[in-house]
Amino acid sequence: MITIDGSEGEGGGQVLRYAAALSLLTGEPFTIGNIRGGRAKPGLMRQHVTALEAACVIGGAECNGLHVGSTEIGFRPGSVTPGEYRFAIGTAGSTGLVLQTVMVPLMLADGPSKLVIEGGTHAMAAPPFEFTAKTLLPLIAKMGPRVTATLDRHGFYPRGGGRIVVEIEPAPLRPIECIERGAFERGKVDALVSGIPFDIADRELKAARKVLGEWPEESFAVEQLPAEIGPGNALLIEAAFEHVTEVMSGFGKMGLPAERLAKTAAKRMAGYIASGAFAGPYLQDQLLLPLAMAQGGAFTTVRIGRHSRTAAELIGRFTGREIGFSDTPDGAHLIEIR
Ligand code: AMP
Repeated sequence: MITIDGSEGEGGGQVLRYAAALSLLTGEPFTIGNIRGGRAKPGLMRQHVTALEAACVIGGAECNGLHVGSTEIGFRPGSVTPGEYRFAIGTAGSTGLVLQTVMVPLMLADGPSKLVIEGGTHAMAAPPFEFTAKTLLPLIAKMGPRVTATLDRHGFYPRGGGRIVVEIEPAPLRPIECIERGAFERGKVDALVSGIPFDIADRELKAARKVLGEWPEESFAVEQLPAEIGPGNALLIEAAFEHVTEVMSGFGKMGLPAERLAKTAAKRMAGYIASGAFAGPYLQDQLLLPLAMAQGGAFTTVRIGRHSRTAAELIGRFTGREIGFSDTPDGAHLIEIR
């Protein structure tokens, strides 16, 4: 039985998701207290409850203390059963993060799965659909399993109502080395708007262009979605390299000027491009779990974030596997599964 203090390290929902996934993968039960103790509003939110329920359903697990606001749970895994599942978050909570909880266990299950996940697809502090589909899943394919994701309907904060469909074809995981990202192929900036003034998208593109001025004019586009999906706004900045596509994003919210949102996301992309590293700030922690289960591999990345340190620590506790962090001579960083 592993005992976790949920306020340590990153101190957010990731600790819960990784602990549940690792528990299903290793058969090791765990308890966690001080849930999301590092956040302004501690305790389980709706999306965390759905993520843990999903882990229980696919993994025949028992979980006590599982309700919104709970600060302590116990989780005892069973065996993972592939199949067709539908998980509805009921808020704009992230569909991508529910997927993060169950994907690796299902990738290693003894048959294919199909998941329908409903909730938010483009909301703050979570991977937007495009990041999952274009950044993460192609790397998973290089490791063996084939996971394809389709966006059926966008879901923005606060309304939610989005839907993704994910098909998982398991295969043994093999380690990959992600050191060089290869040559830059193309950049693309999409401003999504739904049920809000078009002008917001224009202002975002203008602000992004100021930072990413070398990208050609036709790389910048507005995508107007049906008004009934919204209100909603997201800016998606994509850079495709030979070996990886990175997606940086910003999400509109009341009181956040369009220019500021766009400048922050574009600067993050410019920083990533200048770094020469393979993985951007969010891919880091999301690559760690599949690589750890592949028992090897390495990747270069930008500055190491707290999510990665926390994921590494949890992986170590559940699997005994060590994750090494070091600096590369050109100022990037190297993460290795040992
Ligand atoms: P937590 O903050 O603990 O709920 O964890 C958030 C998770 O979402 C981490 O796995 C992050 O890497 C991921 N994440 C947050 N923001 C983004 C983003 N803009 N793009 C991709 N992934 C993200």
